[in-house]
Amino acid sequence: QAKRQGKNTWQWYDCQNAERSFNSVNLRHELHIALKESQFELYYQPLVDAVTGRICSVEALVRWRHPVRGLVSPGDFIPLAEQTGQIIPLGLWVLEQACIEIADLNTQRERALCVAVNISSLQFIRDGFLDDVRQVLAKTGLSPELLELEVTESVLLKGVGSVIDLMTTLKTLGVRVALDDFGTGFSSLSYLRDLPSHKVKLDRSFVEKIRTDRRIAAIVQSVITMAHQMGMVVVAEGIETQEQREDLARRHCDILQGYLFARPMPLAELKKLPDFLPGAQRY
Ligand code: C2E
Ligand code: MG
Ligand code: MG
Ligand code: MG
Repeated sequence: QAKRQGKNTWQWYDCQNAERSFNSVNLRHELHIALKESQFELYYQPLVDAVTGRICSVEALVRWRHPVRGLVSPGDFIPLAEQTGQIIPLGLWVLEQACIEIADLNTQRERALCVAVNISSLQFIRDGFLDDVRQVLAKTGLSPELLELEVTESVLLKGVGSVIDLMTTLKTLGVRVALDDFGTGFSSLSYLRDLPSHKVKLDRSFVEKIRTDRRIAAIVQSVITMAHQMGMVVVAEGIETQEQREDLARRHCDILQGYLFARPMPLAELKKLPDFLPGAQRY
């Protein structure tokens, strides 16, 4: 009896676990199928000008339309895709798809939108990445000035020198680079001096605490001031409240992104958005 109960308990436990998370062997196989069968799609989240409230760009965020699990968030599969190397074909698909979709959307807009695409460090530092970018631009017809690549500070693990070279070449192509999740890695303000990036995205964890932690507020202020002195644009991500938004605008943060303005949405919804989000004007 006890044995049976034990066994049942274990099975129940295992079953629950399997429901919650992918088993990594299965996930690898399922990702392979997903790539072949185009189960991925892009959502887009607007970024607004902190002063005018106008949408200036959108960030492409990948979603997996899983046949059984429904919509799966990138946090649940990007890390494994990075481990298995599947991030390379997936990342290329995202880059190309984002350029195709936004180039097309722009044909119906008076003002062109920029699109920001997240690039895994592995993808960014890989030989051939520049060729991929060139080919995607040529193929999709998106103007290079409308493409922005978001990388995190972990690209620097490969050596600052090679990253500077790559960013410089991208810059000559007209493509901009943003430092994503700034402040979370082994980031140092000195990178702002060394890297030819165009934009810094302050991580959401700073925005979350900006109203409650004076030291965090001081760091945010220094990053904004210093980035501006380096000629860089500053974005704050994860704005959820009016207070956070006003605080960051007062500190001269240039661009804001977060649920307060809009959540990531499918392309069809993005197409219907007005230039100015309701309530996005300052005060
Ligand atoms: P990220 O690039 O820092 O993107 C911002 C994440 O914050 C997105 O989550 C977005 O939905 C979420 N977010 C935006 N505003 C708010 C807010 O106000 N509050 C809160 N709580 N969250 C907010 P998502 O879409 O789940 O993506 C998570 C991460 O997955 C991204 O972080 C990025 O690192 C990665 N990722 C997403 N798409 C791609 C991709 O195509 N390629 C690669 N390599 N990574 C991707
Ligand atoms: Mg990003
Ligand atoms: Mg980010
Ligand atoms: Mg982030």
